[in-house]
Amino acid sequence: MPDFFKALSRSGTRSVKRPGLLSTPPTSLSLAIDGQDIEIRIVRSAQATRLTLRQDIRSGGFRLTLPLGVSMQTADDMVRRHSGWLAAQIRKSPQKVAFEPGVPVPVCGRDRLIRHDPETGHRVIMSDDALTTGGDPCHVPRRVEDFLRLLARDSLGSHVRHHAQRLGRPVTGIAVRDTVSRWGSCSSTGRINLSWRLILAPEWIASYVAAHEVAHLAEMNHGPRFWRLCRELFPETDAARAWLRHHGTGLHRYGGPAPVPQKAPESGKN
Ligand SMILES: [Zn+2]
Repeated sequence: MPDFFKALSRSGTRSVKRPGLLSTPPTSLSLAIDGQDIEIRIVRSAQATRLTLRQDIRSGGFRLTLPLGVSMQTADDMVRRHSGWLAAQIRKSPQKVAFEPGVPVPVCGRDRLIRHDPETGHRVIMSDDALTTGGDPCHVPRRVEDFLRLLARDSLGSHVRHHAQRLGRPVTGIAVRDTVSRWGSCSSTGRINLSWRLILAPEWIASYVAAHEVAHLAEMNHGPRFWRLCRELFPETDAARAWLRHHGTGLHRYGGPAPVPQKAPESGKN
């Protein structure tokens, strides 16, 4: 039995912020994992029909949504039942990485070191192994992220146009966003949105996501015809999906924060 399971079976869960007789119900639960107290925020919801445990990938925090009328005992049981999942998520959660001088950032899958050079001014210059910018050092993180978003717009845009041309379908617009639950999306009007973070992945991964969204111009579903088309546009589709499954979360560790819901297995509907 791995050590963290032993730790879990010894300590179990307990309520925190335990209320007095007339006070509000607890707003969190805590669970000891690997000797560390993990706090799970409790959200009571009139809309929820079942208990849902999620992790916010970027903050690393956990949230348990409870339908109204569900007892704290049930919440405790739910958390205890998912203690293995919680431990695994904590071990998997990557540390946040700010775009600061001295930090290596993978751009198109190749590590480039962020450098501050006062002579460079406000622009960012990318070489084979560095991203260099000047000005006030406290603005380096924002400058680097702005630069990467612009680079993503150019690079992802050209992948989309390439695949759309092969498919012979028009794209009405391409936007680069900080999408959280999906790497891309395609609207019925032909607009494609992609995550700027794909610029941090190897280029063939960005090309796959572009091909995937372009395939939706013809097939607005994930049926067999869609996947056939996707593989025609991008033969390494399966390898790219496997790469994203294994490494995709890591792309969210860079730069500024934003919420990403991550559900525990069997705790929600989708
Ligand atoms: Zn899709």
